[in-house]
Amino acid sequence: MNWITKIIKAGEKIKTAVRERVTARDLAESPWTSCSCMSGPMLKKDLKANLFVCPSCQKHHRISPKDRFSILFSNNYEIIKTPIPKDDVLGFSDTKSYKDRLKSARKNTGLDCSMVVATGALNKINITAIASEFGFLGASVASAEGEAFLAATQHAIENNNPLVVFTAGGGMRMQEGMISLSQMPRTTLAINELKKNKIPYIVILTDPTAGGITASYAMLGDLHLAEPGATVAFAGKRVIEGTVKEALPIGFQTSEYLRDKGQVDLVVERKDIAKTLETLLSILLKKNTSTIIENEDNESSKLTIQTQQAS
Ligand SMILES: [Zn+2]
Repeated sequence: MNWITKIIKAGEKIKTAVRERVTARDLAESPWTSCSCMSGPMLKKDLKANLFVCPSCQKHHRISPKDRFSILFSNNYEIIKTPIPKDDVLGFSDTKSYKDRLKSARKNTGLDCSMVVATGALNKINITAIASEFGFLGASVASAEGEAFLAATQHAIENNNPLVVFTAGGGMRMQEGMISLSQMPRTTLAINELKKNKIPYIVILTDPTAGGITASYAMLGDLHLAEPGATVAFAGKRVIEGTVKEALPIGFQTSEYLRDKGQVDLVVERKDIAKTLETLLSILLKKNTSTIIENEDNESSKLTIQTQQAS
């Protein structure tokens, strides 16, 4: 490589870096956003007012834990601080050090780890809830997230609260190797403690839920709800197709497909999740309440559920 080639390559690198930085900053600061349905630009505040659901195609966009809890608890909730173990005990580095990746994720999201725990009430039923931030290293699960899950479980048991988890994430975090994989049995054991204490554990699958998350706490609920169109998988579609050498069915690994195959109990739109949880928890906890589930397509199919307080 002569000196001219070196200069040209360095120039290209600088141009690419500047272009990427400007684009990311512009996107973050712009009041406009768009949807994959290509229905045209829309104001971020309008998307937020519609609970981050596209008004054209009904796509449920990914949302932060803060927005998730605000929607679920009508802005009235409390964040529970969870322990943060020592960073990067393996000293992992690939194209960038894991420490730097964590630092950058924390700066971009304002969170210490990808999993956030909160408590609030739904129709006077106190619950403990977990939500994950996909923007924090793809909401992958490592030691800090495992600690957050265990803290949530402990809080639920101590307060006799149902535990509701909104799952999201690509799986276990490779930068923490076996430490990360060990969060699968840890979260499973924590859920067993909930069951021993007869505390309801409800999972709401959101886009995307994959890998070790699907292979552990995302599939151990007493009930499994899912947001419409969410990708819920263990291995990726392309990996499976490459292995079995067959084309997979249309809609494979979506909430609706899993509901039709019996792996998901209900697909619920974001605007209806709080009300649906209230109804389900009233039944599970045998609260003295009367609830009406309305089918929008058929007024005559209203279902009234009346339960008595357990003696
Ligand atoms: Zn759309």
